[in-house]
Amino acid sequence: MSPTHDLGVASLARALHERQVSAMEVTQHLLGRIDARRDLGAFLAVNPEQALEQARAADAAIAAGTAGPLAGVPIAHKDIFVTDHGRRALPTTAGSKILEGYQSPFDATVVARLADAGTVLVGKLNCDEFAMGSSNENSAYFPAHNPWDTARVPGGSSGGSAAAVAARLIPGATGTDTGGSIRQPAAFCGITGIKPTYGVCSRWGMVAFASSLDQAGPMARSAEDCALLLSAMGGYDERDSTSAQRPPQDYHAAMLQPREGATAAKPLLGLRIGLPREFFAEGLDADVAAAVRAALAELERLGATLVDVTLPRTQLSIPVYYIIAPAEASSNLSRFDGVKFGHRARQHTDLLDLYKKTRAEGFGAEVKRRIMIGTYVLSHGYYDAYYLQAQKLRRMIADDFQACFRSCDLIAGPVAPTVAWKIGAKDADPVSTYLADIYTLPASLAGLPGMSVPAGRGEGGMPVGLQLIGNYFGEGTLLHAAHALQQATDWHAAAPPDPAPAAGGAR
Ligand code: GLN
Repeated sequence: MSPTHDLGVASLARALHERQVSAMEVTQHLLGRIDARRDLGAFLAVNPEQALEQARAADAAIAAGTAGPLAGVPIAHKDIFVTDHGRRALPTTAGSKILEGYQSPFDATVVARLADAGTVLVGKLNCDEFAMGSSNENSAYFPAHNPWDTARVPGGSSGGSAAAVAARLIPGATGTDTGGSIRQPAAFCGITGIKPTYGVCSRWGMVAFASSLDQAGPMARSAEDCALLLSAMGGYDERDSTSAQRPPQDYHAAMLQPREGATAAKPLLGLRIGLPREFFAEGLDADVAAAVRAALAELERLGATLVDVTLPRTQLSIPVYYIIAPAEASSNLSRFDGVKFGHRARQHTDLLDLYKKTRAEGFGAEVKRRIMIGTYVLSHGYYDAYYLQAQKLRRMIADDFQACFRSCDLIAGPVAPTVAWKIGAKDADPVSTYLADIYTLPASLAGLPGMSVPAGRGEGGMPVGLQLIGNYFGEGTLLHAAHALQQATDWHAAAPPDPAPAAGGAR
């Protein structure tokens, strides 16, 4: 058997169930790798004792025949999901100093469900502060590094999740995507990620950034791994009023479901993939375009038909998102006042002074910028000019997608205009980072499911991602297409080399 860190979620779950390897062995091995790759800055917290305790329980459940489908599979959560401190012994910070040392009294629904499926929780993953960013450089603690080139960013905001999965420290992780934070880091690190339709995963216990956009999803090595994790994470939750009221879904079965009329050689026969002309226009780097085109040609070879479509308001999705997301953030983040939880300023004269000092000390520059923009666009006199206009455009962007889906089943394009940039390269210009969100924001604003699938390499040997966007609740179609591509190609199987001397030892 190959070293256990080379196994993805699906193959590892199988090996564990067949007792070719124990959860204890796997967990111990991966904890060793996590320790050896502290240079990546992927983890904000690790609890080896807790993890081994859970691994022991998983082994016992497997032996007793009572194990869940993912029994013994080590995972970690983006530190935006709250984890019950009593049960998991891990803090929750949302990458912010204002929540430093915060201990949640309960588990997020996604956390509880993945625990019920038998996974072993090893720790909490680095992210941009309150998930605001595209590079993990906005973490209040330390940046995370891209395992393909540690001088570069892993993407963000789920940068720690992407770096940890890509470096084979864990087979799968959770992420959240408000405007691209699952898809873009997955692309930058050469892994697979899916942001489901808004409402598929419960937001209960997910520290809120922009509630009408925030959506959780899995990040792993393959579409199959993502399908297994999503089946465990997703589903209706009465504690989230925006949760979709649908019966539990088996995404793995949906992924395997053959298309009508398809053949073994042409599994995607009849699938129409729309290419929005605006996703291949000026601003897209040539190396990224070439890799995406090669993946599209592969999909065509597998039987899919490529059709031209248009999303005429693609450019506008940037100002629309950067009005709506900060507006919601300014409201959501008003709860961090030094009274209820988290950091509290030591020196203060009265209550107002306590609020001001706590927030001045606790929030980082990007979070403050968003709170100010959000407060501005919601204020009297500017609400109609900015917030209301943005809401109207948001509806038009969603309608544009529906017009596309009249002539195609999926939409494809790049995830980001470039490969991962060098850490610090965009420090002086936050707007240039916002502009790089252009291909992920439209699906977020429309609430549509989107996926990032590895599609080869670009400049500097860095990974490139192919984005696939489905119609509402079209996760099965998305996963099916991505899986077919991954059966025929091995871009997703490539791993960055371990630094010498090899971390981790024999297994
Ligand atoms: N890059 C976008 C932002 O900074 C998206 C972040 C996200 O999806 N959480 O808001």
